[in-house]
Amino acid sequence: MKQNQFSVLLSFLVFVVILWIPSVGITGKEQTECHSFKNFFSMTLKANEVGFMFFGPCSSVIVRIADKTILFDPSCLCKSVLEILNKEGIDLIICTHSHWEHFSKQTVLELFKGSQPHIAIDPNMVLELKKDIPREKLITPAPGRIYNAENIVIDALEGMHIGSEMLFRITINGIKIFHGGDSAYVPLQTMVSNLAFVPTGNPSPTCNPEYAYQMIHDMKPQIAVPMNGNDIQHVTFMKLIEKNLPGVKVIIPERYTSQKVLIQK
Ligand SMILES: [Zn+2]
Repeated sequence: MKQNQFSVLLSFLVFVVILWIPSVGITGKEQTECHSFKNFFSMTLKANEVGFMFFGPCSSVIVRIADKTILFDPSCLCKSVLEILNKEGIDLIICTHSHWEHFSKQTVLELFKGSQPHIAIDPNMVLELKKDIPREKLITPAPGRIYNAENIVIDALEGMHIGSEMLFRITINGIKIFHGGDSAYVPLQTMVSNLAFVPTGNPSPTCNPEYAYQMIHDMKPQIAVPMNGNDIQHVTFMKLIEKNLPGVKVIIPERYTSQKVLIQK
């Protein structure tokens, strides 16, 4: 082989490798995500058991109770995960606000095409979705009012963040679950819950472990799950709870790891 032929062949091989390396990375990440979502849906749940999985990056959580599946703050999801969610079926999507880590219009529309879930959003986001989602499926809650989406009861109040944000509570079969988005502390005595997801910090400038602790102090759930924060902030939050509210169990979630909890009603 002449030297210039060899150079051409070498350049071609380098080009192929450059194309191949990132695709291996993406495939590996997608495989991990798909595996975790399949595991999540394969969990069997007894009455009063709740299954949940934190999948990040900030406060994205999927929850199953009885025959209902709820997605909180899903951001951009890969095609293969969307296919799994559409196959399994989603009953309700909740988006606390419009920041990219908590909301992706494309994801919501792809999921709506799949199982046509109800979609509950901060009313300030309504322009994003009202052209594409039928009015009867779009819930834009007013504080203090109660909504029913096929036996999922929904209520909400205003959070405190950069721009507007709503904090939601859902009730299914008497089990109440609260999700605090990435809000600063707001009084939550009206949001008494069994299971509460609360934000402890990064990357939100309005959250910190003390605010998350105060949220839990107001709601006194059986189980508190920190999210939207780093490991140090989660541990600081957990120590505050252990010291001051020993009756509350804290579960620091591992990303993409399914959890099953029994709720004592
Ligand atoms: Zn935000």
